[in-house]
Formats: sequence, structure tokens, C-alpha cells
Amino acid sequence: MKTLEGNLIIMSGPSGVGKGTIRKVLMNDNTLNLAYSISMTTRPIRNGEINGVDYYFVTNKVFEQNIKDDKLLEWAEFVGNKYGTPADEVRRLRALGKNVILEIEVNGAKQVIDKFKDDQKLITIFIVPPSLEELENRIRSRSTESDDVIEKRLNKARNEMKLKKYYQYIVLNDDPNRAALEIANIIKNH
Ligand code: 5GP
Repeated sequence: MKTLEGNLIIMSGPSGVGKGTIRKVLMNDNTLNLAYSISMTTRPIRNGEINGVDYYFVTNKVFEQNIKDDKLLEWAEFVGNKYGTPADEVRRLRALGKNVILEIEVNGAKQVIDKFKDDQKLITIFIVPPSLEELENRIRSRSTESDDVIEKRLNKARNEMKLKKYYQYIVLNDDPNRAALEIANIIKNH
């Protein structure tokens, strides 16, 4: 019997909105059959991050080679670094019937939406914060980065909020467990 291809789920939202926390809650729900697509990035590794788990941390040269070899499903620049989704892995996981989650920013998401516009199994979700003030507090409090980078991330976050119209579902992160439950229902009902 052929396995049914899994859904492709894009989860976007401004930096600091809590995508990572929501994703971790979702991944604990085995009934959802999820797999997380690990991105490639040129961003320096942060304290506590693990290469091959949080990201594949690569040099600019390696990233450029992946672009040239057409190995990325999408890629984008975000505050001075490049981020991209390895295409083969997404294909492999979906073929196994996994529902694959891409946690990516809006420019990359737009590329995937264009490529998969006829795919009924594409689910696009944008997570919004309760308010911009709260988002700013979260970015400032969790950040290990310089003031300059924090300012750039804040600006980017304000701009990203304007692009939520490209997504099928908007989910409010008033509480990560509640938001994860709402997303779980979206996936089950899609
Ligand atoms: P961070 O540096 O905070 O880990 O990620 C910065 C932004 O890049 C976040 O919005 C995150 O979702 C996004 N991002 C992570 N991986 C990818 C990817 O593979 N492609 C794109 N386009 N964005 C990504």
C-alpha cells in the first residue's frame, strides 16, 4: 500500500512571538505525526543551540553552494544572515506520510506558497502576539544579541505583521498551550 503524502505546514510569525515554544508543544502530540524541518543558516550559533537539531549552522560558502545546486526549497535573508529549507529532507519526510512543519519567515514562506499553490496539503499559519508592545518586551528580554540587532529584529517584526494576509490561518499566541491546541485542530481538520 502506498503511504499518503503528509501535509506541508508553514508556521510564520514575527521574531519573539513564540513559534518555537508552540512548535515544541505540538511536537509532543504524537497523534499529529509531525516532523520538524531543520533549516540551514549562516547565523552564528547561540548559547544552548545544537548544530543539526536547531539548525544546520553553515558558512556563507556552503550556503551559496546549496543555492547553486538547487538544494533549497526556499531561502531568505533575515537581519544579515541567510536561512533556507533543505528540499530533499522535506520531500523524504512527506513521502513517509509525515506532516512536515517549516518554521520560516515571510519571504521564504511566499516562495513555498508560490511553488505549492495547487497542493491541497499546504497549510499556512501566521502567529500573532497579543500586542506589539508585548512582542517588543519579549524580543528585548530573551535576546542575547546586540542593541543594533535587537532594533533590526523589532523593525522586521513590525513589517512582518503586515504580511499576515498571505496566510490561510491567523493564530493568536495569548498562551502557547492554547495556541498549540488551535493549530492541532487546524491540522486535523484541514
Ligand atoms: P532566528 O535567528 O531567530 O532563529 O530566526 C530568524 C527568522 O528566520 C525566524 O523568523 C525564523 O522562523 C526564520 N527562519 C528559520 N529558518 C528559516 C528557513 O529555513 N527559511 C526562512 N525563510 N526563514 C527561516
